[in-house]
Amino acid sequence: MDFSDYQGIYVVAETRNGKVCDITAELIGQARCLADQKKQKAIVLLAGRNVAGEAERLTALGADEVYIFESPLFDHYDGQAYERVLGSFLCERKADTILVGATAAGRDLAPRLSAKLVCGVTADVTELSAESDTGLVIWSRPAMGDHIMADIVSPRFRPQMGTVRPGVFPMPEEDRNRQGRVFRMPVHLTAADMGTVLKRIIPGEKESDPLEEARIVVAGGRGIRSRDEWQGLYRLAALLHGSVGATRPICEMGWEPHSRQIGQTGKLIAPAVYFAFGISGAMQHICGVQADIMIAVNQDPQAPIFQTADYAVVADVKEFPPLFIEAVESLKKRHASQVSVCRL
Ligand SMILES: Cc1cc2nc3c(=O)[nH]c(=O)nc-3n(C[C@H](O)[C@H](O)[C@H](O)COP(=O)(O)OP(=O)(O)OC[C@H]3O[C@@H](n4cnc5c(N)ncnc54)[C@H](O)[C@@H]3O)c2cc1C
Repeated sequence: MDFSDYQGIYVVAETRNGKVCDITAELIGQARCLADQKKQKAIVLLAGRNVAGEAERLTALGADEVYIFESPLFDHYDGQAYERVLGSFLCERKADTILVGATAAGRDLAPRLSAKLVCGVTADVTELSAESDTGLVIWSRPAMGDHIMADIVSPRFRPQMGTVRPGVFPMPEEDRNRQGRVFRMPVHLTAADMGTVLKRIIPGEKESDPLEEARIVVAGGRGIRSRDEWQGLYRLAALLHGSVGATRPICEMGWEPHSRQIGQTGKLIAPAVYFAFGISGAMQHICGVQADIMIAVNQDPQAPIFQTADYAVVADVKEFPPLFIEAVESLKKRHASQVSVCRL
């Protein structure tokens, strides 16, 4: 199939309070690599309210062209309105490739765009490359419970589109000497075009015990089977003046917010002591932990975490934390005057 008239690696920018989000910079870095390899342009679509001031930065990050779609109605993301404006533009442009962040907004927008453009979309991409001979984009993402990486291609449709996980790719360095072209596009939107009515924004609670600052982290993984057992981690963390962390599956199940995820796509932590309860020790998790002492509890003596841990406890996570809590409590009672022993 001849797709030679489909040109340009497009990035759909995301902004918050008029500023471009990190994911957009990460996407531009990838768009730049693909554009250089495919000898095409890296093009950014910047929609929002009062966002034109960011165009220069997008060029410095690697964009050849920036298209600005400003409207007071773009104060906050609205899937229907974004799809109407950006989708119509993309339909006319015949894009080769479109990169969208796998954020809440991006995950809403990408399928809307793919329906409008009649193309596929690969969700949650973590690796990106292009075939050297055909230029076909290879979208790689974890599959089958993260046990394999699946390579997905779109040989029969254009554009090729994917949502890319935030935090996976590096931010490109800004080069303020880079030259790019900036276009202001007309936006014809009325309140009737909006899919949602925003009544109030309730800011999320600020964490009282940020993980990255904790000296003791008590983390759990899929080996913990119930929320009751999970509460045991909080009891232990409270006792040790520590914070609770989690593996990705735990956050994906909704037991903890993403802000408590440790690892490649979560937080990087460097506590004095790290407890790992029912955590297998996958590289993507362990790469986020740089602890002085790691204590791992796992029922499988072959669990990979034991290769990294300083102390390996082969035990059931149902049984070990309560025993450990009991031991710490009795220690604290005996050394009541030296409670600071636990304050590392
Ligand atoms: C690109 C990419 C990025 C990723 N980013 C992250 C990331 O940032 N953070 C992250 O955590 N993961 C990340 N992952 C996922 C990672 O690969 C692993 O799938 C995940 O860390 C496994 O989580 P887990 O240890 O909780 O679960 P599992 O791998 O299922 O391990 C559960 C462990 O619990 C043990 N167990 C079971 N029952 C008991 C019991 N009763 N008592 C004691 N032990 C028990 C088992 O022996 C097993 O070792 C990423 C994956 C990819 C592909």
